Amino acid sequence: MELDEKYDVIMIGGGAGALAASIYTCRADLKTLILERKYVGGQVIITTDVDNYPGFPDGINGVELIQRMEMQAKRFGVEIRNEEVVKIDVEAGKKVVTTDSAVYAAPILILAMGADPRKLDVPGENELVGRGVSYCGTCDGPFFRDKDVVVAGGGDSAITEAIFIAKFVKSMTIVHRRDTLRAEKILQNEITSNPKASFMWNSKIEKISGNNKVEEVSIVNVVDGGKKNLPCGGVFIFIGNEPNTGFLGNLLPADAGSHIETDQTMETAVKGIFAIGDVRKNSFRQIATAVGEGVTAAIAAEHRLGDMRNKG
Ligand code: NAP
Repeated sequence: MELDEKYDVIMIGGGAGALAASIYTCRADLKTLILERKYVGGQVIITTDVDNYPGFPDGINGVELIQRMEMQAKRFGVEIRNEEVVKIDVEAGKKVVTTDSAVYAAPILILAMGADPRKLDVPGENELVGRGVSYCGTCDGPFFRDKDVVVAGGGDSAITEAIFIAKFVKSMTIVHRRDTLRAEKILQNEITSNPKASFMWNSKIEKISGNNKVEEVSIVNVVDGGKKNLPCGGVFIFIGNEPNTGFLGNLLPADAGSHIETDQTMETAVKGIFAIGDVRKNSFRQIATAVGEGVTAAIAAEHRLGDMRNKG
């Protein structure tokens, strides 16, 4: 395959952080390509109401927010291609990016691949995905109208999604491995006052069962070891996420959860490679912080490129 070297900056992943970064790199006259394997927008696309992104006092739908960002980025000339990156090599300062259909090389790379939902890793989970097991309340909640469902997790995602799912279901049992929620206080207040929601504290799902669709979950109390089977029509799992960094191999230092380490400018251990958003160690994983990290990386990238070109 012919090497395409016409870009100054290549971004891998097309979420909010990359779109924001591309507005800055394009305005700095850097030829910018975003490579996205699925759809532009990442996790924001599956969020119905975004209520904490500044500038929208009544909230904004996730799809609309992304469409607006994409239109803005395209106005300044970003190119977006639907390709999956399989490998990155660094050769004499050049970052060579191999996708499923092309090979590119650029001096600057911004890694913005986001993360996928973490799995419970229990029997029945994989077999019953799409048959009652879901990782997206916003997408699937309406399919569980008048059903009894179980929600796993106690973080912001679990409780935000639980509040949405509660609009449709008959009842919801939130199974959390500790006795306190990790989610923001405002979300905690809303879910604990919802009459459809009840809690099983200090508890974990051990098994999901059903004949071709979810019928029951087996739950164990992690304090006293007590076991219980709970009949239900669906299981929603929101227990965090895993960064999409697999194709990097050992190219960059990362933490035990494979989140990439960066400095304050979002630059990794390799000069000219930046990481932003959910793939980055210590990211707060908010849309607003991903956007801020993207803009930081874009400005730092412009400086780095200047340094590289001055040194010839
Ligand atoms: P998270 O904050 O890491 O929470 C994960 C939850 O799942 C925790 O309650 C954790 O329990 C539980 N958990 C993890 N592994 C588990 C396992 N193997 N079995 C059972 N339970 C398990 O992840 P998140 O909720 O997806 O949020 C990710 C980031 O996005 C956070 O920074 C969050 O603030 C942000 N976010 C923000 C919003 C918002 O602002 N509205 C919405 C969504 C996400 P422990 O509590 O015991 O660790």
